[in-house]
Amino acid sequence: MVSITAAAQPRLSIVAPAYNEEGCLEAFHQRASDAARAVAGDSFEIIIIDDGSRDRTFAMARDLADRDPHVVAVKLSRNFGHQLALCAGLTICRGDYILVIDADLQDPPELASEMFRVMEAERADVVYGQRRTRAGETAFKLGSAKLFYRVLRRLADVDIPADTGDFRLMTRRVCDILNAMPERYRFTRGLVSWVGFRQVPVAYDRAARHAGTTGYPLKKMIRFAVDAVTSFSILPLRVASFTGIATALVSFLAILWSLVAWMLGHTVAGWASLLSAIFLVGGIQLFVLGIIGEYLGRLYLETKRRPLFIIDEVRRAGVSTDSET
Ligand code: UDP
Ligand code: MG
Repeated sequence: MVSITAAAQPRLSIVAPAYNEEGCLEAFHQRASDAARAVAGDSFEIIIIDDGSRDRTFAMARDLADRDPHVVAVKLSRNFGHQLALCAGLTICRGDYILVIDADLQDPPELASEMFRVMEAERADVVYGQRRTRAGETAFKLGSAKLFYRVLRRLADVDIPADTGDFRLMTRRVCDILNAMPERYRFTRGLVSWVGFRQVPVAYDRAARHAGTTGYPLKKMIRFAVDAVTSFSILPLRVASFTGIATALVSFLAILWSLVAWMLGHTVAGWASLLSAIFLVGGIQLFVLGIIGEYLGRLYLETKRRPLFIIDEVRRAGVSTDSET
């Protein structure tokens, strides 16, 4: 059987969630291996987490694991979403340093050596890639991402850097702390900021996808954004109460005005204003209820304490193990 130097505790773990990435995996494996070898010699592992893909992603990852003892192929029981797939990878990896990266080669694996250099020079625990430019994205994606990171920075209680995805190098202790966080709605880049220690950016140009299409359609993007905001801020709830107070104040002024007008002998005109006032207040109430509902729903799902992900199969060095959670 193949001997695995990587099985002990490798110096570097590369963790890459993959959803329908059959067109990228070969190239990813090649470039990630070269980049890992440059910084960690032979002491590395590449963990590919197949997040319930509908194409040949897992079959290919398993082949890679059979061919290359550095590769660990993990199959989740269904699509759990990018963030939970990442979480699964972080639980499985064993390296002293962990590089989180997308499998679509939008984040260049070669940046790892620069990240290691900065980590050592700055004595940092986290070195995160900050996007200078983003190739191959639609104007809508660029605009919405820009807006999202800026709004989030204003709302969030922790300092979450702008234009920063999950592409980062972290130390084992940061990874262990992340793994100890039980929450289901995981906005990993925010959680990493929350951990603290010294965190330093490295600027890079984000490439276009190597192949395939984005696994983040609009619906997933919106859910991702709402998860991010609700996990890191209760400001929307405060805005809700302020809206309530503001409406109450406006109605109070309206009552005062009608009273004064009545005392001066004018009649205040009827049903149209009444109807608009009712609709306005009704709308505000439903909106505020919706905000409360977002938080309440998350609270409800969080209290069930279901496992965050389910692993169907792990394949390393030609050996498969089943069903871990
Ligand atoms: N991904 C995943 N599960 C999903 C969607 C995406 O594991 O449900 C992976 C995907 O394979 C990629 C990374 O998460 O490695 C980022 O996703 P994608 O490239 O589709 O997003 P984008 O870069 O377009 O924002
Ligand atoms: Mg991508």
